[in-house]
Amino acid sequence: MLQKLIAGNWKMNGSLAANQALLADLLAGLAAQAPACQVAVAVPAPYLAQVQQLTAGSAIALGAQDVSQHASGAFTGEISAQMLNDFGVRYALVGHSERRQYHGETDAIVAAKAQAALAAGITPIVCLGETLAQREAGETEAVVQRQLAAVLDVVGQDVTRLVVAYEPVWAIGTGKTATPEQAQAVHAALRAQLVQANGAAAQVPLLYGGSMNAANAAQLLAQPDIDGGLIGGAALKAADFLHIIAAAA
Ligand code: 13P
Repeated sequence: MLQKLIAGNWKMNGSLAANQALLADLLAGLAAQAPACQVAVAVPAPYLAQVQQLTAGSAIALGAQDVSQHASGAFTGEISAQMLNDFGVRYALVGHSERRQYHGETDAIVAAKAQAALAAGITPIVCLGETLAQREAGETEAVVQRQLAAVLDVVGQDVTRLVVAYEPVWAIGTGKTATPEQAQAVHAALRAQLVQANGAAAQVPLLYGGSMNAANAAQLLAQPDIDGGLIGGAALKAADFLHIIAAAA
């Protein structure tokens, strides 16, 4: 069976001192009990070098929270996939709902970012999910399938190199989690869409994100189409993140 992937999204949190303390606790925990899953942390860009150094040779893979769709040039403030490569970045989040909401990222931009990451050998973690209003209007599947289709159209046969994260917007940072049944239903729809695009894409890991925590992780991760988690708040506490990692065994 596919190994699960547990990825922490630190968002705009941390400091040199706090990151060092968090990673020391995580590395000690992982050394005591080797993880049966893949582990990654997506960190703020200024800390990529620090986290690369502190996680070198460990079970923790390095991730970025965003990547530019452009290769280089006059794009002030942007960070290219090749720059991420300089720091050993394995994963890049693309299309997180906070980027879509606060930075105007459209489906087309998200698709271009996924393509830019792939071109540099970085695995994009494509984030998608519906708002509460869309769920209540019965549009959940249509919304997430539209978001995924935009990426599939651009990446073609590279679909097999994606990771997809379903993060219902109403569950992010709210303490409200999708029930295992709600999450499983959306994951099954996404899996079907991936397989239709390319049979080999059945292996694309489908992560759930949105208030996943130490208490609810095991139930969510037990669903047949939930292959891991993308964790925000609970990834900032070593004990909670380690608990989720243990639940992914
Ligand atoms: P929370 O786990 O804090 O709800 O955040 C989820 C998320 O947005 C991960 O990308």
